[in-house]
Amino acid sequence: MTITRFAPSPTGYIHVGNLRTALMNFLIARKAGGTFILRIDDTDPERSKEEYVDAIKEDLDWLGLHWDRVERQSQRLDRYAEAADRLREMGRFYEAFETPTELDLKRKKQLNMGKPPVYDRAALTLSDAQKDALRAERGDGVWRFKLNHERIIWDDGILGEISIDAASVSDPVLIRGDGQVLYTLASVVDDMEMGVTHVVRGSDHVTNTATQIQIIEALGGTVPQFAHHSLLTGPQGESLSKRLGTLSLRDLRAQGVQPAALLSLMARLGSADPIELRTDMAELIEGFDISRFSSAPTKFDAQDLFPLTARYLQTLPYADVADRIRALGVPDDKAELFWQVTRENITTLDDLEGWWVMFRDGAEPVIAEEDKAFVAEAMALLPEGPHDTETWGTWTNEVKEATGRKGKGLFMPLRLALTGQPRGPEMAQVLPLLQVIRAKG
Ligand code: GLU
Repeated sequence: MTITRFAPSPTGYIHVGNLRTALMNFLIARKAGGTFILRIDDTDPERSKEEYVDAIKEDLDWLGLHWDRVERQSQRLDRYAEAADRLREMGRFYEAFETPTELDLKRKKQLNMGKPPVYDRAALTLSDAQKDALRAERGDGVWRFKLNHERIIWDDGILGEISIDAASVSDPVLIRGDGQVLYTLASVVDDMEMGVTHVVRGSDHVTNTATQIQIIEALGGTVPQFAHHSLLTGPQGESLSKRLGTLSLRDLRAQGVQPAALLSLMARLGSADPIELRTDMAELIEGFDISRFSSAPTKFDAQDLFPLTARYLQTLPYADVADRIRALGVPDDKAELFWQVTRENITTLDDLEGWWVMFRDGAEPVIAEEDKAFVAEAMALLPEGPHDTETWGTWTNEVKEATGRKGKGLFMPLRLALTGQPRGPEMAQVLPLLQVIRAKG
């Protein structure tokens, strides 16, 4: 049974980087007919906010990434305490009392001597009396997991074989001085107890994974299959870490990006497979293969979402947008034609309003000096409305005969005069929708 999880911390809105993680875990579970868990990593009571939990669910729902169940770390603290006790009993857990300033100093010294800044395990040599004295002075210490100094090796689903020397990694702090259980332990306990079989997350977690493998082994669990996807960069390869805040899913949604566009891009970006618009989740699931993803940093350009959104909108039947179009005030008898006319000329649904305003109020005519007489003559020939889809053809034929103009010289000035724009939908369809406000006199 395949079990995956998406494990966001509810300390902010989820962004495209998180989506990559969520989507890969979702697709793996769905492809295998397994279970996809939404795990809320809320062991930090100060930074975790309920509004972000709701927002995460709303964003995943919007995308159609439905989870099978929700788990919350804040409700499983007793499980973590129990695991901590077991680590203590087996001598793999020790209390350390260094202040952040002291640790910083140690690191600087090590770096100065050209050594890796790894915690020196000074706390292991403390006697019970020394610990009591430190505890009385500084309060409870942090609890560190004692790594076995050997190589930690795993076959990563994206990175291939990874081998990390545990001696080059500091013994991880799993419990803070104030008793707060940290993610590294909570995540291991959850993954073990929930039977998680596959963990996909960002490559910023690679060192975590190494230490987590030893913790899982110490606790007698089964190590899941790990895969670490590369981090997203901007279009020029620049770091996105500071900009990810502006690439939240809700910002993209507010900009009119459609779920199908976002899913189609993120399910393929950074893989050897081409990016194609997929409007059916089943196809995304079927076509997903994690081994196709590259370990190289993946360039992400939010602008790529707009052509995909436009293409998706072109596939929509009128019924899917009817409410939105009626809400603009488009009369019922013109609404379907309005959609046919505009759907190939919008990037997002927000662009519909501009078109409707133009049809309703008429456009500011654009008429070149040398076309003035021609446009005036043509307008005089335009029959009174209402117009239908035949009107344009009949009218321009008449104008052609009367003025001798043809081709672009005939059509372009009329399009510009009627719509104010050099491009747009078929004029034969535009005319019946357009309120032609003709200058009198
Ligand atoms: N809460 C962790 C994060 O957001 C989860 C990492 C993991 O998938 O284990 O980074």
